[in-house]
Amino acid sequence: MSRSCGPCFACCIAIGVRQLDKKPGRWCPLIAAPTQRAQGACSVYDGRPEECRKFECLWLTETIGLLKDEERPDRLGAVPWVSSEAAEAAGGNLPTITFYATSNVPENTRLRKVRERMQREGITTVFQHP
Ligand code: SF4
Ligand code: SF4
Repeated sequence: MSRSCGPCFACCIAIGVRQLDKKPGRWCPLIAAPTQRAQGACSVYDGRPEECRKFECLWLTETIGLLKDEERPDRLGAVPWVSSEAAEAAGGNLPTITFYATSNVPENTRLRKVRERMQREGITTVFQHP
């Protein structure tokens, strides 16, 4: 079953958006106010930048059970993603997964357990702060 972002907007914090001069790990100024989030997390959703339109995290796209439904990025405090460079370097093997933190706080227990599970499965992961 395919996943949807639901109430998550972790990538609106974790990723950099060149068009907005938004740095990775910084709260996007265009995130909707809490009282308006019933319409979605982005206050300019229909006109959001191309980088935002294109971005899909690994939790959203993977279909081989790397991450559980309940391990959505907002719950992990980090956005899992595989760069095209990492995918190319892996040459058909499982690439390194980078978890981009949504804040400056240290890795939380839930994320640590996910990364330990992946490590047992032979998957290399990196936790990256902004
Ligand atoms: S981090 Fe993933 S699940 Fe969350 S809003 Fe972004 S793409 Fe959707
Ligand atoms: S413009 Fe919208 S979709 Fe893009 S990072 Fe900001 S809040 Fe998120």
